[in-house]
Amino acid sequence: MPEPRDDCLFCTLVREGTHVNAADGFVAIDDINPQAPVHILVLPEHHVDTFRDIEEFDGDEAARMLRFVADTAHKAGLTDYRVVVNVGPGGGQTVFHLHWHILGGRPMGEKL
Ligand code: 5GP
Ligand code: ZN
Repeated sequence: MPEPRDDCLFCTLVREGTHVNAADGFVAIDDINPQAPVHILVLPEHHVDTFRDIEEFDGDEAARMLRFVADTAHKAGLTDYRVVVNVGPGGGQTVFHLHWHILGGRPMGEKL
């Protein structure tokens, strides 16, 4: 596992943030600028810049990350919700530490 990066906001929040769920190398935090009544970010401790670099996770780590996303949504009381990963600036990514958005608590609609 690479060292946390001092210049990375989400590496800092992995170490020092208020976690709504944490297990197994992953943490979840409330988004500072929520776009839905529930807006949680899932952060792996393992820093990779973007989902594009997902091959840096071994298969077990990637599977555990997905289970942690589902577990976090469940613990937040959500059954119906949206999971989003923005990839690269053109995909809307603004923080370059891989993260999953969990959005819920209202009907999300059929369109993105
Ligand atoms: P992105 O645009 O990279 O997919 O998502 C970055 C998310 O991080 C945004 O939804 C933004 O509101 C959130 N964010 C940015 N800075 C902070 C912060 O300091 N704390 C928390 N909890 N969320 C943040
Ligand atoms: Zn980081």
